[in-house]
Amino acid sequence: MINPASAGPKATVGRLVDRNDFPILSRTINNHPLVYLDSAATTQKPTAVIDAIANYYRTTNANVHRGLHRLAEEATTAYEASRRTVARFIGTNDDQVIFTRNTTEAINLVAYAYGREQLKPGDEILFTEMEHHSNLVPWLILSKRTGATCRALPIDDSGNLRLDDLGKHLTARTKIVAVTHKSNVLGTLNDIQTIIQRAKEVGAVTVIDGAQAVPHLPVHCNDLGADFYAFSGHKMLGPTGVGVLVGKRDLLCEMEPFLGGGEMIREVTLTHATWNDLPWKFEAGTPNIADVIAFATAIAYLQQIGMETIYRHECELTAYALERLTEMPSITVFGPRSVDQRSGVVSFVDRDVHPHDLSQLLDQKGIAIRAGHHCAQPLMRRLGQVATARASFYIYNEKQDVDALIDGLRYARSYLGFRDEAC
Ligand code: PMP
Repeated sequence: MINPASAGPKATVGRLVDRNDFPILSRTINNHPLVYLDSAATTQKPTAVIDAIANYYRTTNANVHRGLHRLAEEATTAYEASRRTVARFIGTNDDQVIFTRNTTEAINLVAYAYGREQLKPGDEILFTEMEHHSNLVPWLILSKRTGATCRALPIDDSGNLRLDDLGKHLTARTKIVAVTHKSNVLGTLNDIQTIIQRAKEVGAVTVIDGAQAVPHLPVHCNDLGADFYAFSGHKMLGPTGVGVLVGKRDLLCEMEPFLGGGEMIREVTLTHATWNDLPWKFEAGTPNIADVIAFATAIAYLQQIGMETIYRHECELTAYALERLTEMPSITVFGPRSVDQRSGVVSFVDRDVHPHDLSQLLDQKGIAIRAGHHCAQPLMRRLGQVATARASFYIYNEKQDVDALIDGLRYARSYLGFRDEAC
C-alpha cells in the first residue's frame, strides 16, 4: 500500500481525465450539468468500456470453455485474458482470481465454502464496527449455522479502528477475521497489514473487503498476504455483474465448491463428482462473459492514469472537501480529519436538514450524492445517526464539483428557511 504522506506535490485537483470519455457526464439533471458524487455506490463508465461490451456481442459472442469453433475460442481467450489482466493489476496469480457477481458474492463464497466446513461452536469470527453489511451479514448467517460467535472490533471517536483493542478480541478461538480495507462511510483507510499479521499469529483466516480500496489506490494482494480479498468491477469503471475473489491457493484447493453445475467439474457419474482445477472449480455455469471482458478495458483505463495518481487526486479532493465543509457550522463531518488516514469519501450531516432532504434538494441542482445508512447500520448506530449524507469522488471529479456541493448545501438550507449561514 502507498504511503499517503508521500502523495507528492504533483497531485492535481483539476481534471485528471477528459470528462468527454464518460458520456453520462454530459447529461443535465433539472437543467443543471450533472455533478456525480456517488462513485462509492457505483462509478460511471467510459466509452471504451461501453464499446467493449457492444463489440463483444457484435463480433465474438459465444460460450466460453465449451465450444471448439472459432467464436468459442476467441471468447474463451478474451475471457481468460481478462483474468490475467485482473491478476496482474491486483498482484496475484491467474488461478487465484475467481470471477463472481460482486464483492457480496465473493464474501458469501468464502463464508459458505470455507466457513461452513471449518467452523464449529466455540469458534469466533471477528469483524469490525465499520463493516458494510456485505462483510457482516454473511458472518452472522455463518454463526447461526455453525454455532460460532461473532465479535466486533470497535472504532474510536475519530473513526479509526481501535487496534489497541485487537489483543482483547483476537484469541486462539478466532478462526476468521473479516475487515474492510477502506470504509465506505468514513473513508478510513485501515492498517490491514497489521491486522493480517496479528490474525496470522493466532492462526485465523483473513477476509478483506477491498470494494472501496482497489478502485482508489494501488493494492498488491500477494504482498498483503490476506487469505481472501474481494472487490467489485462496477466501482472501478467496469460493468455491473463482475466481482473478484482472490484467494490463497492452498485454501481454495482445500475448499468444497460454492455452487455446483457446468464447468466446475472434472468428472461426473450418477453417484459422485470431482472438481475442476482452480479457478474454474468456483465458476459454475455460464459466467458474465461480456462484462468480464469489458472489465479488462476498465482496468486498462485506470492503469493509463496510474493508481498512485488516482489516489493522490482523491486525497486532494477529500482535503479540499473537508476544508470547505468546515465553512458551514451546521455541518458535522464523520471520520478521520486528515487524509493521512482517509480518502475519497466524506459523510456528514446538517444539524437542521435530514440527509434525504439534502439529497433531494441537491438533486434539484444536478448534484448526485448518497443519503441513508450506506449498508452500515451498526456503524450508523455507533455514530448516533439513522442516516448520513455522503459525497464520494473518483477520477472524473474536480475541485469545482466540491464547490458545487457546498453551494448546493447552502441552497438546501436557505430553501428550507435556515438562514443562520452566510448563504
Ligand atoms: N463493501 C463495501 C465497503 C462497499 O462499499 C460495498 C458497496 N457499497 C460492498 C462491500 C458491496 O459491493 P457490491 O454491492 O458490489 O457487492
